[in-house]
Amino acid sequence: MIYMDNSATSPIKEEVFNAMIPYLKEEFGNPSTFYTLGRNAKKAVEEARENIAKLINADTKEIIFTSGGTESDNMAIKGVALKFEDKGKHIITTEIEHPAVLRTCEFLESRGFELSYLPVNENGIISTEDLKNAIREDTILISVMHANNEIGTIQPIEEVGKIAKENNILFHCDAVQSVGKIPVDVKEANIDLLSISSHKIYGPKGVGVLFIKKGLKLELLIHGGGQENGLRSGTENVPGIVGFGKAAELAYEHLDENIAKLKQLRDSLIEKILERIPESYLNGDRENRLPNNANFRFSSIEGEGLILRLDAEGINGATGSACSSKSLKASYVLSALGLEDEEIHGSLRLSLGTENNMKDVDVVVDAIAKVVGELREMSPLWDNKNNVSLELDESKFTDSNN
Ligand SMILES: *Cc1c(COP(=O)(O)O)cnc(C)c1O
Repeated sequence: MIYMDNSATSPIKEEVFNAMIPYLKEEFGNPSTFYTLGRNAKKAVEEARENIAKLINADTKEIIFTSGGTESDNMAIKGVALKFEDKGKHIITTEIEHPAVLRTCEFLESRGFELSYLPVNENGIISTEDLKNAIREDTILISVMHANNEIGTIQPIEEVGKIAKENNILFHCDAVQSVGKIPVDVKEANIDLLSISSHKIYGPKGVGVLFIKKGLKLELLIHGGGQENGLRSGTENVPGIVGFGKAAELAYEHLDENIAKLKQLRDSLIEKILERIPESYLNGDRENRLPNNANFRFSSIEGEGLILRLDAEGINGATGSACSSKSLKASYVLSALGLEDEEIHGSLRLSLGTENNMKDVDVVVDAIAKVVGELREMSPLWDNKNNVSLELDESKFTDSNN
């Protein structure tokens, strides 16, 4: 099996698994208790906190453990909205955020908040001019993701942070796809709130972090026993947190070598696919993208069929994002790039992991070339003689009513 869907989730690293085991067994203490067993658990949680703080250049006091990226996004956006609604009820975000941000913003709209959604250019990048123009007197929050989960495109967050600061507006960044994969520095980018998730960086699922800048007070989402400095109640997921901490430590240690390795694999994958397969294109910016993301589209292809046939070949990839791939709705991210529904349905996201190698790339390229060829052979939209797609607007394919 070749796994190339690391943007959906990543396999747990051996060291991460081993670090977790004791906390699932003999070290089962509750970190809020004061005898040795509890203190051991507390110490392990604090060590994980240090490793995560280091990865994003934050202070340990600024790291709050949550149940994952989704909760962190909810906690940040709802927390700011409810805390500062007296100051204003306007929030700025982008059209291509993860559903954890978009659905939260829609919820707030239903409660009287006003949202501005920034568009992206054909490469998936926002314009900072658009951002400046969207700012109003009553804007309380800007939420812009760092790297997109579908197309891997990286937003200019340093500039966004600068604009937010100049206008005295809070800045939340969903960095679930970028932390551990490219450098993230909350101080350099003037970030007030930053979401991270463990299972996207080879840690366990169901654990995440919200970075909250020192001094910033939020309305709370979860009330209870006052864990996490009173900000997020609930007995800590100790084994999960320990695994997350280990994953963060490994990501920090190997950041540069992983970037170099993944970029080489990604670039080779992109070059080979575009060269081998006629009418294949890359979605998202060529340079300004995550080292592990390649998102293609093939004309006259159905992504669903492509995924199933690749699965049969032992290869895992995604069409659209993991959350929307169960429905046939075209990806809103690809749609925001200006692509037509037919183009979007022929899209394939391959997100590489540190376990992949050049041989995997070659096997995957061969398999895709084969499967795309087979699917096109059966497609009424593909001209097999000339190896080109048929023009959809030619008379024989045009609905006579139009
Ligand atoms: C995966 C993901 C999330 C959600 O994180 P979970 O830990 O799965 O809840 C949020 N934002 C982005 C960009 C993601 O890729």
